[in-house]
Amino acid sequence: MKSFCIHGHFYQPPREDPFAGVIPSEEGAKPFANFNEKINAECYRPNAELGNFEVLSFNLGPTLAAWLEGHDPPTYQRIAEADRNNRAAHGAGNALAQPYNHTILPLATRRDKETQIIWGMADFRHRFRHDPLGMWLPEMAVDQETLEVLASQGIAFTILSPHQARGQLDGTGPYRVRLPRGREMAVFFRDEALSNRLAFDPELTNSAKDFAENCLSGFHVSDGAGLCLVATDGETFGHHHRGGERFLHNLLYEEVPGAGYEVTFLARYLQDHPPTAEVEIIDGTSWSCGHGVARWGEGCTCTPGESRWKRALRVALDRLAQEMDTLYQNEVEKWVVDPWQLRDGYIWVVLGEMEGRDFLAQQITGKLAEGEEKRILTLLETQYYRQAMYTSCGFFFEDLSRLEPRYAIAYAAKAIHLVKEATGISLEEGFKRDLRPAVSWITDQTGEDIYDDIVHGKF
Ligand SMILES: [Zn+2]
Repeated sequence: MKSFCIHGHFYQPPREDPFAGVIPSEEGAKPFANFNEKINAECYRPNAELGNFEVLSFNLGPTLAAWLEGHDPPTYQRIAEADRNNRAAHGAGNALAQPYNHTILPLATRRDKETQIIWGMADFRHRFRHDPLGMWLPEMAVDQETLEVLASQGIAFTILSPHQARGQLDGTGPYRVRLPRGREMAVFFRDEALSNRLAFDPELTNSAKDFAENCLSGFHVSDGAGLCLVATDGETFGHHHRGGERFLHNLLYEEVPGAGYEVTFLARYLQDHPPTAEVEIIDGTSWSCGHGVARWGEGCTCTPGESRWKRALRVALDRLAQEMDTLYQNEVEKWVVDPWQLRDGYIWVVLGEMEGRDFLAQQITGKLAEGEEKRILTLLETQYYRQAMYTSCGFFFEDLSRLEPRYAIAYAAKAIHLVKEATGISLEEGFKRDLRPAVSWITDQTGEDIYDDIVHGKF
């Protein structure tokens, strides 16, 4: 039998001003106070109310999940319940995990890859109360090392686009990617044409019946069975395309089954169809940049205007991260064998599953004086903001003067502030110097100007 699956990547970046801890009013979201409110009203809530999360494959980004938990508990509960119900019915859940800060992993160090993946999995366990089997990669950005870390943490599968594989594919898979030390990863490849049409052609979501008749008929695999996989942003359904939530409901509950397909999700499909063919992936590729991952690195023509600010901003963040890591390591390795394992475990404090004091008592042998305990916890909080400054949206758009890069700089500023508090050392001058070559082609502001605005309360 033929199967059909839609994966929705549900995600919002953090919108809180890291100094005030609240979301500044967002003009463009009116009459809503901010975009989280607007997109929740248009997409998350109606999709949850219609039961769409039950029949999708989905991932819910940690920053969005935390916001929903606090601002719309019924919607949050419905989404968690959808995964729970599928586990009860099929022995596998339909939710996937996501690296915690939506970091472009091929551009991150191995240690940061580990932290992002471990934090993302912890966030998933905190919300869905079981181990994740699959992980969504931010922007589908992939390299061998990312897959190795995923596999070493127990993740079984991910989703990519066909252009990220070497050679010709025959259908969605799953395919096996062989990794060092006998490890492997199952990879599903989405139907790129269909996924992109659904994302970018609003006409297509007008009628589920037409979609099933016209689009699914074009789907063929060699043996007449197999899986058709569409993967796109979850916000397509209701936010990008008005009424998309009803389209999705009609499609997955009526039209697709009516066309002779079984509606499924990836963990369930993998149970019954382990990979039989192998594939090699192409390092440093993604779904939304034709230049590999340059969109978030040195800059490229995917965004209009002068994109050189991206490289300058990244160099500034990377240097700052290195300096912070040295300070953190020097202080913390007096107390623990592995400072990075301590950082990985700190997520349970962030998630509120543990008090900071209890966490340290569990991790550290020996008695900490009160000042030392506070210093280590502050340095761990530094590492939290140091991870947040790499959120992919900071680099995704065309200009430095936009809100998203300001957030990246604001998270860095917050981390610098905490380092000073913990150690008395200021990393500010070096960071400002590194931010000078990052220049907005729209406003001529430099990264340093933006940094100064932020620390003077003009977020
Ligand atoms: Zn590009």
